Order: sequence, then C-alpha cells, then structure tokens
Amino acid sequence: MSSDRLTLAEHDQLLVEAAQRARRYIQELADRPVAPAPESVADLTALDTALPQHSVDPQTVLAQLDEIGSPATMASAGPRYFGFVTGGTHPSGLAAAWLASAWDQNAALSAMSPVAATLDGVAVRWIADLLGLPAGCGGGFVTGATMANTTALACARDRVLAEAGWDVYAQGLVGAPPIKVYVGAEAHTTIAKALGLVGLGRDRAEVLPVDDQGRIRATDLPSLEARPTIVCLQAGNVNTGASDPFVPLIEWARTTSQPCWVHIDGAFGLWAAAAPERRHLVAGSEGADSWATDAHKWLNVGYDSGVVLVRDPAHLQASMGATASYLPNVAGQRQPMQYTPQSSQRARGVEAWAVLATLGREGVAQLVEGCCQLATRMAGRLTEAGIEVVNDVELNQVLVRLGADPEAAVDRLQTGGVCWAGTSERDGELVLRVSVSNWSTTSEDIDVAAESIVAAIRA
Ligand SMILES: *Cc1c(COP(=O)(O)O)cnc(C)c1O
Repeated sequence: MSSDRLTLAEHDQLLVEAAQRARRYIQELADRPVAPAPESVADLTALDTALPQHSVDPQTVLAQLDEIGSPATMASAGPRYFGFVTGGTHPSGLAAAWLASAWDQNAALSAMSPVAATLDGVAVRWIADLLGLPAGCGGGFVTGATMANTTALACARDRVLAEAGWDVYAQGLVGAPPIKVYVGAEAHTTIAKALGLVGLGRDRAEVLPVDDQGRIRATDLPSLEARPTIVCLQAGNVNTGASDPFVPLIEWARTTSQPCWVHIDGAFGLWAAAAPERRHLVAGSEGADSWATDAHKWLNVGYDSGVVLVRDPAHLQASMGATASYLPNVAGQRQPMQYTPQSSQRARGVEAWAVLATLGREGVAQLVEGCCQLATRMAGRLTEAGIEVVNDVELNQVLVRLGADPEAAVDRLQTGGVCWAGTSERDGELVLRVSVSNWSTTSEDIDVAAESIVAAIRA
C-alpha cells in the first residue's frame, strides 16, 4: 500500500484491517490482565520518536498502534475494571462510533450535519427524560461533567446577575455585584475548577458541612446572605455514591428573596433516577435549575461525552450563543453550538442516541440497578471474608478498608491483573475505591474480583 493518496480499494482494506484488530482486542478484553505489564508500558517509547521525515504506509502505522499500543492499554472497557467511575463502551455505542467516525460530521450546526444536530437534540431530550428532569429543560453535549459544570455555572452566573441588573454577557465580571456561592464540603473537585473558570474563584464559596457519607447536612444550614446566590449540590459523591438531600436543600435555597440558582453535579449519581428501585436516592433533584451529567460514565458511551442541562434552555442560549453572518441559524432546527462553549464538535449525540435506542428505558434501568446490585454483592463478599466496607453501599460505590499495610495491598491488587480499583481517603485513611459501572460485569466477575481483593489485603 502506498502512502500517496489511497485508492478506494486500499482505503477499504485499511478499514477491514482496523476492524479486525479492534475485534481481536474486544475478544481478548475480558481475559487479559486488567493493568498492562510494565514491559508493555516501557515499549511505548517505540512510538515516542522524532517526527518522521517521510511518509509511511497507513497499514504500517496501524500495525504499530495495535502491536505496541494495544498491550499498553488499561482494560478499562472490560468487566473487572473498577477504577474511578468509568463504564466501558456498550457494543451499540462502539458500533455507532465506528459509523459516525466514517461520517466525520461536525455537530455544530444543522447546516453542517442534519443527522448529528438531530440526534444531539433527541439524545439530550431522552437523557433529561430518563433522569426525571422537568419537561422543557434543554442543553447539550460537552466533553464531560467538568465542562458541564463549567457551562452550567457560567449560565447560573449570567442569570443571577442579569436578575440583579448586571449584564455579564456584555460587561464581564469587572464591577459586577458579588455573587454568594455555597458548595458542600465534599463537592467534586471539578466544581472548584468550574467556579474558578467562570470567574467566581476556587476558594470563595462558603462550604456547607456534610455527614459521614459526604451529604450536605440539611439540619445546620446558614442563613442565606442577601446577595445573588448560586448553590452547588451533588448527586453521587465520588467516593461513597451518596447524594445530597435535595428536597430540604432546594427549599432552603429558595427562601432567599435574591436571585438564586441551584446546580446539581450528577456526573454518575443522577442516573439513580433511571432505575425505579434507586430513584428515591435523588428525590427532589428535578427542583434544581441546572444539572451536569456524563454519558461516558454510567450510560457506557465512549469518551468523551458529558451533558449540561438547564431548566430554561433560553438561559443557556443567552450565555452560550454565538452569531456571525456565515452561521446559519435555521428556525425550527437544532443548532448544538448555541447551547455549549464549543463550536466545531464531535457528533457525541450519535453514540448516546444509539445506546439509548438499544437499551430503552428498561435497559437503562437494568444497567443502573444491575451495577448497584453487583456493588452490594461485592460488599457482601468482602464483609463475609472479614474485610470492612466503610461506606453505606446504596449505589455503585464500595469503599474498602485496606488492612495493616494499605500501600502494599493496593500494589498487589493493581499489579495482580485480575481486577483494578483505585484508592481514595476516608477520615485520613487510604481506602480502596471500587466502582461498579460497566454493562458487561457479571456476578462471577464480582466474585473473582472480591477474592483478589481479599488476597491482596491478607497477603
Ligand atoms: C466524574 C465526575 C466529574 C468529572 O467528570 P468528567 O466527565 O471527568 O469531566 C464531576 N463530578 C462528579 C460528581 C464526578 O463523578
């Protein structure tokens, strides 16, 4: 194959080979060591060369990627990866991503891609529906919950100041009335980052105390200051999985006579609303003004895919809209770039649409409920073996006490290859953090992984 412009036949052959290599990877995924061998990671230096001077045939490049790259991956798409809160691509999402990659659509505008703009809108609507959010809310796809938080908080800032008579859109923040921000003591770190990015400061917010699961305590809330106010709440504490008590907290926030906005960061936790048995865990979340969530976590859509949702999408458009004579804004057609900070963008809605169209309401409910039940099974196996679980396992998160030598136990587990879980801190102590969020994890996977965790702690 020459590196000059490929013939159609050569192009086709390249795609067939890519598909074969990808299929082999997927076939081996569940059985390979979850963490790559140190030698495979060391071999990555073969890809870290000076920029090649001459063109190379794309099959050679593909072979290099597969032969050197594939062994140095984390099997994070597989069933025994419990690190962070990830999820692995659902087959329907992967297949849609392949097709959508071939389409190479820019989802910024309906004029650029009717199909991408349409599916973007449908997928956002379906997600809002599954999460039990108010009819009429709207939003768009962004890279992840970090950007969803940032986008929502920019909108919140603009709106509360607009109500206070200040036009942030035109004037920025210099000279604006101060905004009072409240966050929980265990708000996700990206809330601080988002507050910093939108000019409200990483350290200016008043921190509300939390209980032992990281939920804001609704019983000792301060009196609200007489200022434009933003309250940041959380569905799904990144360690315990616990959600703030939204009903009393939102009631409290609404007692102010000042402009007020309530935002919920629900990257994975808001998905509890999609499973009837878990919905009570996020009761009242529909009372907020904006929500951030991820499709690439619990919905098992590929990276990167987050969603920002706002009760009144007109506010989002007011903050995020952009106009130029060459940007067609066809009435009645969705223009994704008018809802988020991005202009040109990947057609994220295609994969999310495909996974949702495949699973349906019941399938998503089973995905969420199944992971929760597997987390409970994991906690049970560990407890039976005399290992302590330190959180209340109500969702998909299990925090595990690590015994006499925590670092050594984690090292044994992570290099053992049976499963992979990360760590966090609880009350100043290193704990293992197990997140069950993959569609393909089975009860056998949980039992094998639990054995491996027990062995790593006991060794
Ligand atoms: C994962 C997570 C985030 C950040 O999400 P990204 O998709 O990595 O940007 C924010 N908040 C919470 C609660 C999370 O769990």
